[in-house]
Amino acid sequence: MNKLFSPIDILNGVGVKREKLLRKLNITTPYDLLYHIPRSYTDFSHTVQICDGVLDENNCIKTKIIRKLRTIITARTEIFKALCTDGEVSFEISIFGNKYLFETLTEGEEYYAYGKLSQYYDKFQLSISHIIPVTSQNLIQPVYPLTSGLTSAMLQTNVNECLTIAENELIDYMPLDILEKYSLCDLLTALRNVHFPISYDSLEMARKRLAFDELLMLQLGMQFIKYSNGEKTEYIMQKTDFPELFPFELTNAQKKAIKEISEDLCCDVPMNRLLQGDVGSGKTAVAAYAMYFAVKNNCQVAFMAPTEILAVQHYNTVKEFLGDKLRICLLTGALSVKEKNECKKAIEKGEYDVIIGTHALFQKSVEYKNLGLVIMDEQHRFGVAQRTALIEKGQAPHRLVMSATPIPRTLGLVLYGDLDITILDELPKNRLAIETFAVTGKLRQRAFGFIKKQLELKHQAYIVCPAIEESDDLKSVIQYCNEISQKDFRDYNVALLHGKLTAAQKDEVMTAFKNGETDILVATTVVEVGVDVPNSTIMIIENADRFGLSQLHQLRGRVGRGKDQSYCVLVTDNPSEEVRDRLKIFCKLTDGFKIAEEDLKQRGPGDFFGKEQHGLPKLKIADIASDMELVNITQTVAKDILTADKTLEKHHALKIEVMRMTSKMKNG
Ligand code: ADP
Ligand code: MG
Repeated sequence: MNKLFSPIDILNGVGVKREKLLRKLNITTPYDLLYHIPRSYTDFSHTVQICDGVLDENNCIKTKIIRKLRTIITARTEIFKALCTDGEVSFEISIFGNKYLFETLTEGEEYYAYGKLSQYYDKFQLSISHIIPVTSQNLIQPVYPLTSGLTSAMLQTNVNECLTIAENELIDYMPLDILEKYSLCDLLTALRNVHFPISYDSLEMARKRLAFDELLMLQLGMQFIKYSNGEKTEYIMQKTDFPELFPFELTNAQKKAIKEISEDLCCDVPMNRLLQGDVGSGKTAVAAYAMYFAVKNNCQVAFMAPTEILAVQHYNTVKEFLGDKLRICLLTGALSVKEKNECKKAIEKGEYDVIIGTHALFQKSVEYKNLGLVIMDEQHRFGVAQRTALIEKGQAPHRLVMSATPIPRTLGLVLYGDLDITILDELPKNRLAIETFAVTGKLRQRAFGFIKKQLELKHQAYIVCPAIEESDDLKSVIQYCNEISQKDFRDYNVALLHGKLTAAQKDEVMTAFKNGETDILVATTVVEVGVDVPNSTIMIIENADRFGLSQLHQLRGRVGRGKDQSYCVLVTDNPSEEVRDRLKIFCKLTDGFKIAEEDLKQRGPGDFFGKEQHGLPKLKIADIASDMELVNITQTVAKDILTADKTLEKHHALKIEVMRMTSKMKNG
């Protein structure tokens, strides 16, 4: 039998073979193997007679092996067979490819056999995935996430070895009073029971302790980063008077945000602030004031957006309102090499105050003269590495990150515990709520008629189609666009925007739409984030059931940005009651935070952030949605611990564990 490593290897951390196998599991140390948590469990405690078994499903049968049969050798594998009985009926078991397992079975002995049941005429067959002696103590057996070349049995053996060593080596870093207060079991018991539970109760105890630890480490980690790294910035700014930068009056929320930010900028600790606000709450204006403030204090500002379209849009806005006061440039991948080089040179010499762009802003070749403030729009779209790369372009610059993804408060603390948070909880005055309807495809023509009415009023429209940019979806979006532009909207200008266009093409399409040259923009979700065309007043979302509520909210936020009443029509042919209810709820809700809560409840946090969005910590055991109570408790515990022991000096073992776990989450 293959071993992942010998106990000696675990202790001294050497062994080429072990490394190879740990790499297969994508883990780095043997200790982590204990945290390679089972995906599910096989329950041997409920057995059935073979005649009562469910065909084509997994069943657990108490089985006596009568006689081992001849091995069948096929081109692909070996099939090991034995004749068995459940006490009443005889049947055959087969084990695929696992000679080792087969050899452990003894004729005349009794086992719990677990596997898929099939019937051939009147003969039953059980194709074994798991088999244990009836004398086994563990009737709940772990099923591990595996990669090729590894079997559950190999993992079990090695986990068991690790546990034996852990008995002597493992330190429970959790203070006793916390264990007592929250009725948690000790760490070794938890680890042992999560791998080899003796009962469902013990499994639940184990899971609770490990989930508690995971959430606590996450929160401690972030609080710790926030308070104890002692980072100082050399960009300590002085108060300056603000001129009126925009033709509208700022909302109170905006004013408050600007005040908080400018106070941060006057400190010697770099600002680390999240500006969160619903779509259309005017985050860009706040960012503009922050820029102005920093530049007046002789700093350069880098303003990073996740997409080319957004970078250009921000550039145009900032240029329009601040162009006569600040020197502003745009640096994106779409520039020619020559333009880029010129731009970079000027940035290095300090000839630009505000540099707006995409990922191009943190390329190696870009050097800043005195980067004092870094602003990131829609920050959840950037990974930690990308954020860090930009920040490292300056000497501990101030950071402002902005997000339009409203996040339920609890979740916000988990995700952004290392940030100070400002919330823009107010929309500019005179904003009208977007009237939203959900309809079936039968009413599509009426929706189109509705679009035409808006177009006659010289407004513009979006039609959003969900598309995975790599697939047939995209083809059907292109076809959809061709069809409506030749049929329904023959007399109008229809354009198509999708993720597979080059940056320059996207830019061209967007610019034409912004300038009012295009009446209808058919688009995939590339319009989701931040695009601002106040003249567009209607959006139709096709296959709306394929989006999460928060994403729908983001999409819908593309309309209702001007003074006119706007509309959003959700089209779905999905007959599911549940889907319809979900969309109906959405039609009634306007507040992004409420929608986020609803979304979290319905679809859990993973979905909530969408596939391509980064920033959610990879949790192995805890589940933020269903462990909300633990999230709350651990928040309190983390705060209590840090209040008493700011640098965790008195909790040395705990501190080491915090470091280990947080580095895992970040890399994960
Ligand atoms: P978001 O927070 O979604 O990024 P934007 O910054 O794009 O929002 O602002 C949305 C629109 O609202 C823009 O057209 C902007 O000019 C306008 N706007 C921002 N603040 C105000 C305000 N206080 N009063 C009126 N309009 C505003
Ligand atoms: Mg925005």
